[in-house]
Amino acid sequence: MDPASGPKDPKARREDLKKLRQKSEVVKVVDKNIKRLVSDMFDIMHADNGIGLSAPQIGVSKRVIIGEYESTKTPVPRMVLINPEITWTSKKETVDEEGCLSFPNLYGMVKRPERIRYTAMNENGKKIEGKATGLQARVIQHEIDHLDGILFIDRLEGNLYTYEKQAENGE
Ligand SMILES: [Zn+2]
Repeated sequence: MDPASGPKDPKARREDLKKLRQKSEVVKVVDKNIKRLVSDMFDIMHADNGIGLSAPQIGVSKRVIIGEYESTKTPVPRMVLINPEITWTSKKETVDEEGCLSFPNLYGMVKRPERIRYTAMNENGKKIEGKATGLQARVIQHEIDHLDGILFIDRLEGNLYTYEKQAENGE
């Protein structure tokens, strides 16, 4: 499928929810379509102020995830992971808040291993190995779940919640 022809809006409509439940296909070659897909994904993620995004969320059923978050406290370095696989997880788990660009303004607490190791291909098609901890590890796990049709709402500890819109005068 040409990534440029897929739906771009990651917000899940009813018909898209079925697609979010599919298992995405392994990427065989990192060609210019994949590079374009990655570039589109960063544009969409940044426009929506996200910190992670998977290809199936924009209608492309391929095993590609990205992440990036500029923050002094919990930065996530720019990542492009193609065919990512988690090879090790810590026994220690943490519970923290997650949201998802496919479910705007819905949040919940999710328990996940605190540290992971993974393998993947990078955007140049080179095999890479890495380890991640904290928020970065959480983003990678959340996005890999999408590639297998799993959503954060499947892993909730407690209920989904939403935040009231901030008062317009900023209080
Ligand atoms: Zn998500």
